[in-house]
Order: sequence, then C-alpha cells, then structure tokens
Amino acid sequence: MKTLSRRAWVLYLMALAFLVGVGILLYTFVTNADSWAMKRTNRHIYNSGVLSTAGTITDESGAILAQTVDGKRVYNDSKNVRIATLHIVGDSQGYIATGVQTAYSDVLTGYDLINGIYTLKQYGKGSDIKLTVNAELCTTAYEALGKNKGTVGVYNYKTGELLCVVSKPSYDIANKPTSDIANDTTGQYDGVYLNRFFSGVYTPGSTFKVITAACAIDNIADIDSRSFKCEGEYKVGGDSVKCMSKHGTVNFEKALNQSCNSAFAEIAIELGAENLTNTVNQLGFGQTYYLGKTRLARSSFDLTDAATVNIGWAGIGQYTTKVNPCHMLMIVGAIANGGSPVQPYYIKSINSPSGDQTFKPSTVTLAPMFSETTADRLQGMLRSNVINYYGDGKFPNLKMCGKTGTAEVSNEEGGLSPHAWFIGYSQREDLPLAIVVVVENGGGGSSVAIPVANKTMQKAAKLFG
Ligand SMILES: [Zn+2]
Repeated sequence: MKTLSRRAWVLYLMALAFLVGVGILLYTFVTNADSWAMKRTNRHIYNSGVLSTAGTITDESGAILAQTVDGKRVYNDSKNVRIATLHIVGDSQGYIATGVQTAYSDVLTGYDLINGIYTLKQYGKGSDIKLTVNAELCTTAYEALGKNKGTVGVYNYKTGELLCVVSKPSYDIANKPTSDIANDTTGQYDGVYLNRFFSGVYTPGSTFKVITAACAIDNIADIDSRSFKCEGEYKVGGDSVKCMSKHGTVNFEKALNQSCNSAFAEIAIELGAENLTNTVNQLGFGQTYYLGKTRLARSSFDLTDAATVNIGWAGIGQYTTKVNPCHMLMIVGAIANGGSPVQPYYIKSINSPSGDQTFKPSTVTLAPMFSETTADRLQGMLRSNVINYYGDGKFPNLKMCGKTGTAEVSNEEGGLSPHAWFIGYSQREDLPLAIVVVVENGGGGSSVAIPVANKTMQKAAKLFG
C-alpha cells in the first residue's frame, strides 16, 4: 500500500511537471511568436534584412508614400516628399523605430498570431495604411525649416488628426547616403533616425511662460491687477534671472506679450515649487503618452531641492525642464479646445488585402489640462501676443494665437545659438489647427520660428481651410 502510494505520487509529480512545461512553452510561444515571425531572417517578409513585401502607405489625400512593386519597396516619385515624410513613413530596415514601416510592420505584412503569415501567402501582402498627414504640407514645413535641424507638427485640435509631422535632418530613402551618415563628422546627420516630433525633448524657453501663466491664473487671485517692474533682471539674493530687455512696469498680460523674464521669474517664485509642480503634473509632464504604437518621449520638470533663483529660471522655461514637441502641441491644443486636449493620431484607416476597413480611428478627448476659465483667459492672452506684439501681419488671414520661445541651451544639447520655438493655433472656425515649431540653434523665436509657422499654416489653410 505504501509502495503504491509512493508510485502514485511520482506519477502525479511527473504529470504536474509535464503540464508546467506545456504552460511555459505556450507562454513563450504567445509572447515571442511576433518577434520570431518578424525576425529579419524571415524570408517571407524581409529580403536581406529589408522589409520587402508589405502593404501600401498613402497620405490623407491618397498620394502613395510607400508600396511594394516586384518585391521591392518603392516610395513617392518626388524626392522632396520622400525626404519630408521619411520619419512618419519610416525606413524598411527598422532604423527609424517610430516610422510606420517599422511600428506597423505586422499590419503591413499581414502577420498575426492566429494566422501567422497566412494573409501574406494568400494575398502577397498585408494591409494598406492611410495616414492622416498630408505630404504637400509636410514638404512645405520641411522646406520652411531651411538649413536648420528641427521639427514641425500640425494637428486638428478638435479631431486629433496629425496633418504634418516633420523631423530634420532627413535623407532620401530612395538614395540613402549610407556611408555619409556612417562617417559623418560635420554633425549634419545628428539624430537622423530620430523622429524629433515623437522622440525629441527640448528646453522650452519662453513657450513655458504660458504654463507659468496658467498656474498664476489658478493660484494668484489678483494677478490681473498686479504690476511688475523690469530693469533688465530679477534679483534673488545675490543671484538674478536676466531679461532680454528693460521692460519697465508691465501688467500680467503685457508681461506675456513682451515675454518679460523678470516678471515671470517673480511670478514663478511667488507661486513656488509646489504650485508649479501641480500645474505641470495636470498637463501630463512625467507621463507617457502613446499615439497608436508610438510612445512619446516624456516631458520633465523637477524642482526638488531647487534654489529660489532656479524656480525663477524654471518659470521662464529654463533650468532642467524638457518638453516633447508633440506633448507641447497637445498642451496648446488643449487651450484652443477649451481646456481638454484631444488625443493626436496619425493612422486614418487600415484596409485588409480583401478591401475591408479593419481600423477606423475615433476622436478621444483626454482629461482636462486646464479649467475652462483658465483656457479662456489663456486664449485671450495668446491672441493678444499676436495682435499686440508679433503683429497679425506675420500671419495674414490666420487669426493666430501663439507664443514664441528662445531657449538657451547647454553644450550637451547643442550649445551655441538658442533653439527657436513657436506654439499656437488658428482661431478660424474653418481651420481648427494647432502648430508647434522647434528650430534647433535657430536663434530668436519670433524672427526664426514665426516664419516657419506662418508658411506651414498658410499651406494648411490652402489645403484644408
Ligand atoms: Zn523684462
């Protein structure tokens, strides 16, 4: 009896071990099958490590950006379009991680866990993807950046559609300058595989004053009746925050119009680390946002143990603060949209090889970043910046609201000339578009970033207004 029971135990244990083994195998298969099948050695999909057989990618107007012809990926006929859309379309070797050809390679090739590459075998390709971006608009924005590196993003702040996603430097995917990129010592290809709009973070400079202003509206009851004195700097103890000019006595709105560092350093120090931190947390700093399969770089703001003068610097968008351009676009979009941002997206539709639409995006409104009252007040101030300071003539017929930034950068971020920023949106009913422009080492925000924003928005007005 004893022997029998011992044998039974051994059998039970063996059965258990077998089941655990099967479980582990299944788990490994389910979690790794994607990467096994998508391995670049899978000849059904990749040819010498290059994506070959895949669906067509078009822009919102139907213009072909990438397709497979005779087993090879072929891109748009226009070199300028190929260069301007490189980062959103992506390459075929996976260097540009956020590009659709890499992030959506399973969709394009038709691979899925249940059917494997069945679709691919049956139809010779996977699904077709239509993007929300417009290739002509991307080309205009890319060219507007001139010789500088940087990024431009435009989105419909009511629907969430991204109409323009541009990152510079870029290259012509049809004639990739492989050895020039590999051996570059001039810096002209720095970060060429990075989509700066999704994956970059920059010192925000004075565009951050919009955020400090929001915090002030929420926390300083009499902010509109305050006045600030600027004599070219704001002194804190033995230290000071420098201003670009001696603005004299300014009120809150004029301080934003003229981008007075002294006034905003004073406001930030009065608000203090806790209020400022609460505001940026509400705006999604430190959060990870996803646009479909694309993860945005996180914006950061940290006043832990900051000296008083550094709270002043942080209030004008310097110190250690870093912002992702797409996140900044969401913030300005939230202001335009009455306080709550609409989630941006770049896939307009996915169609299976048999022609069925298998994906249709929907407009998703995220949690409020600003109260309606605060958004209203900021709308007025951003419109006043353009009317009273930059001049409506800089944006003919666009009814623009906005804020420029000239962000001083450390050596590790490129040093030399500051980054030029513009964030803003059109108040035209027929043109609910917000824009973000970052011109790396471009110099002054108003002289450099405004013309880029205007050229891009004028083109958008022609295409969509
Ligand atoms: Zn000043």
